[in-house]
Amino acid sequence: MGIRGQLAVLVGGLVAICLIGAAFAAAENRRQEEIEQMRIRSERVLDAIGVTVAVFVAENDMAGLDTLIAHVSEPGRYPDLREISVLDAETRVLAHSQPERFNQLASDDFSRSAVVHDGVVWTCDGKLLKVAVPAVSGLRWATVTASYSLERLEAAVAASRTRWLLMSLGLAATLALALFLGLDRLVVRPLRSLQQAARRMGEGDLKSRVPPLRTHELGELSGAFNRMASALQHERDNLEHTVSERTRELKQANERLERLAVTDGLTGIFNHRRFQEALAQEVLRSTRSSRPVSVLMADVDHFKRFNDTNGHPAGDELLRRLASVLAAELRATDLLARYGGEEFAVVLPDTGKAEALQAAERLRSAVDRQLNAEGEHTRRVSISVGVATFGTDGDGPQALLAAADRALYVAKNRGRNQVVAASLEVG
Ligand code: GH3
Ligand code: MG
Ligand code: MG
Repeated sequence: MGIRGQLAVLVGGLVAICLIGAAFAAAENRRQEEIEQMRIRSERVLDAIGVTVAVFVAENDMAGLDTLIAHVSEPGRYPDLREISVLDAETRVLAHSQPERFNQLASDDFSRSAVVHDGVVWTCDGKLLKVAVPAVSGLRWATVTASYSLERLEAAVAASRTRWLLMSLGLAATLALALFLGLDRLVVRPLRSLQQAARRMGEGDLKSRVPPLRTHELGELSGAFNRMASALQHERDNLEHTVSERTRELKQANERLERLAVTDGLTGIFNHRRFQEALAQEVLRSTRSSRPVSVLMADVDHFKRFNDTNGHPAGDELLRRLASVLAAELRATDLLARYGGEEFAVVLPDTGKAEALQAAERLRSAVDRQLNAEGEHTRRVSISVGVATFGTDGDGPQALLAAADRALYVAKNRGRNQVVAASLEVG
């Protein structure tokens, strides 16, 4: 059973017990009062007829006494009057509302004490109220006793008690129901909404909030819960923001690293490693697609001499300029790399021998044209280029490269500043 059920049963039960106790006490109180009233009325009646009875007895007028008793005990005259009798000092019955009991000796304790007692005597055994009054006219001539049935009174008291009990039970049940519904509305439902919000938060939904609760304590609790949820959400948002920021920075750093790993530090073009990868990829692609791929190997002529004459910084600068001149002459799909020292290598995808020779010649003449402006250098700057095509000059990346290298040295031997195709050299 939930908290509201337990509280409702507890409070309803306590109220029911209190009201039932009160009902019994009130009924008993009423009973005593009613008996007291009945006794007082009875005394008055007996007092009223006492003198007349004394006179009849004094005059020995038994007929008159009978008439009086018969008159008093007429049905309906005094409700609840069971019997009335007149006793002499020896408890003999002088007159009785039930004539068959005339001239008998009343031998009960009440009668015996009534005839010797000076004042009013009464007793109540729960079923009967007995009252005795001396009949006095100058002297005490007799004692008048009457007994009243308490049945009607007891029935009325019992009915009133039952009414009280039913009312008490009804009141307790209503109170319990009101308490149940009140607790449901004021405590249980708000607690449930708190519990559900806490469960949703536990499942990771930090947007979960509790509607504002009206009762003071629960209102504070819901406010505290919502503030906690907001703080948590804020923290998580911050954390997510920081994580995504760090991830972005890390990604950028990785990209920079990746770029650095494949870039030549001096010229900014691809390095030896990237060239080897690209060559391997393109050779593989060419093997699958039967599309041609060629390689160029370019070397600066007499670069040692250039360095010796102009200094290494000028040599570095020349290498940078060479890289940009060569890059400007190539297609976007071609890959230019610094192979090492003053040697450059180019992968030309989808390029056959004739086109590769043209590209090599374009590079050579661009260098010759662009790096030998009037008075720029004391000696002419030029490159020699070896050209090799996959399939024709080599059946793998390294073989292709070796063929291009050999062609380059042929170009050097033939006087430099020229292009030589590997096949020519081979042929
Ligand atoms: P060849 O025409 O036969 O190629 O003659 P070469 O002088 O160019 O060839 P060699 O192999 O004798 O010399 C290459 C020179 O290139 C030697 C080296 O000092 C220079 N070199 C290599 N890398 C760099 C570099 O990064 N910067 C500079 N300034 N010089 C470099
Ligand atoms: Mg060299
Ligand atoms: Mg050289």
